[in-house]
Amino acid sequence: MPHSHDTHQTMTHRYARQMILPELGPHGQERLRQASVLCVGAGGLGSPVLLYLAAAGIGRLGIVDDDRVEISNLQRQILFTESDIHRGKAEVAAQKLAQLNSQCQIDAHPMRLTAANALSLMADYDVIVDGTDTVASKGLLNEACVRLGKPLVHGAILGFHAQVSIFWGRHGPCYRCLYPHPPQGAVANCAEAGVMGAMAGMVGALQGLQALKMALGLAWCHTHGLDPLLGRLWVLDARTMNTRILTLTPQASCPVCAGDPDSVVLQDTPQVACTPREAQDVRGIDVAQARLCAPETLFLDVREAFEWRNGHIAGARHLPLGQLLAETHALEDLPLNAPIVAYCQHGIRSLTGAAHLQRLGYTNVHHLEGGFVRWL
Ligand SMILES: [Zn+2]
Repeated sequence: MPHSHDTHQTMTHRYARQMILPELGPHGQERLRQASVLCVGAGGLGSPVLLYLAAAGIGRLGIVDDDRVEISNLQRQILFTESDIHRGKAEVAAQKLAQLNSQCQIDAHPMRLTAANALSLMADYDVIVDGTDTVASKGLLNEACVRLGKPLVHGAILGFHAQVSIFWGRHGPCYRCLYPHPPQGAVANCAEAGVMGAMAGMVGALQGLQALKMALGLAWCHTHGLDPLLGRLWVLDARTMNTRILTLTPQASCPVCAGDPDSVVLQDTPQVACTPREAQDVRGIDVAQARLCAPETLFLDVREAFEWRNGHIAGARHLPLGQLLAETHALEDLPLNAPIVAYCQHGIRSLTGAAHLQRLGYTNVHHLEGGFVRWL
């Protein structure tokens, strides 16, 4: 029992370092105590998110994760230690967080987020944090948040690239305003693309800070000069440490947030768009070879519109992967023997794109190894 830890004086002492901030103060601290946050995924992102939120005194924290701790998780999932291997992540996380802050109510949900349980899991929380690492889960979380009118603290990592934003249907754009054609399972996760633990720590800590701002509330943020990443996408290239903030606007054509929230349909998206076997059959070319391609070669940019706008290979044609996969007629003006080089940012989505083109019958398809980043 937390006998002596719950007196007012102890509480004040516990949070003293943040309560002396004029942006927080005792009233802000009380708001945090009354707030609830659900973190979906207790992995590389979820670990720092949950640790910082519990430490900061969020009143109630939910953890959704059906995985078990594996040794390969310990490189970045700082909630866990060697003695936790094979134990359920949600249960271990709940135990560790209770040790960190016994005043924080912790709900462990040892289950996978699905279209069937998303709304009931999320309905009871003020703020939702995305600690998942697949496009399918990110889409499902987004759709459920739009349905429920809840803010979603988004974070994603690919190699040394990262992004953080807050999506909130009523107050700004949603995830689908940014990615209208979700490439189904085509964006690599940590297992495929690799990740440094400190990258997950950095992005998770930033998500934690955004969640705290959302727990304080928009009105509080505005009166105290705190500007959450609502309608803004923070992007980082950690190789150079260049950061940018892109402004995002709600899209009138958004398939999710533009209409009536009640009509948003939740769907479980299958993960596999490109089997390892198919990927193996795709021929890759490096940048030097690509620069020597015949002039009639079509460079097909399968990235999203905002990536295309930030720069692309001269003369390339733009067709986001999701659209390429979904619209069978998108390339019907091209003869099946047309030389095509598919490319994306890092050479991962382009693999799926090229495999799909081969499936459609195109015979002269390559994908650009290392993607646009290496081209530059
Ligand atoms: Zn939207």
